[in-house]
Amino acid sequence: MKKGLLIIISGPSGVGKGTIRNYFMDDASLKLAYSISMTTRAPRENEVDGKDYFFTTKEQFEQAIKQDKLLEWAEFVGNYYGTPLSYVEKLRNEGKNVLLEIEVQGATQVRTKCPDALSIFIIPPSMEELENRIRGRRSEPEEIVQQRLAKAAGEMKMVKDYKYVVCNDDPQLAADMISLIIKRHMKSELS
Ligand code: 5GP
Repeated sequence: MKKGLLIIISGPSGVGKGTIRNYFMDDASLKLAYSISMTTRAPRENEVDGKDYFFTTKEQFEQAIKQDKLLEWAEFVGNYYGTPLSYVEKLRNEGKNVLLEIEVQGATQVRTKCPDALSIFIIPPSMEELENRIRGRRSEPEEIVQQRLAKAAGEMKMVKDYKYVVCNDDPQLAADMISLIIKRHMKSELS
């Protein structure tokens, strides 16, 4: 069986990666599987352990780093986030195209290890709109909102390292564009 693609999706916090994903994730023709990350961040109100993230302690996370169990990892606004390697490999070996929704430092690590990974960066229509979206989430204190906004400005500079850039003005349209990109790459892998 042909190994599945590795697809990196990045974009500043609040840009709507999760919302866009909901539009295309269930399209069976894309053969997608979502890579569930480990994080030391506390769950948000609607988040489920083992579905949105594997929520872990700092000690467990540091142990995973030591044992080389992560494909990549990064610290983001005071918490660790990382991709469990064995899970990704298992899914790819089953022929699934694995989607990593990760920030820019992690994406750089993945590109170094897997140069043929497909990378897509999602940008907001404007930085003002991004701020509205982060604030609209109402899940974090002002200090963290400020840190996420500062981080977003830095992340936007990394857009040049990605193969594709998609603007999330309209989530359905952004999802359609990402589906097209994935289908195009599935085809070229076959030929
Ligand atoms: P949030 O706290 O908003 O869920 O995530 C913060 C940032 O961490 C987002 O940009 C998200 O895409 C990124 N992220 C989530 N999981 C991972 C991961 O496994 N590795 C890395 N490097 N970033 C991640």
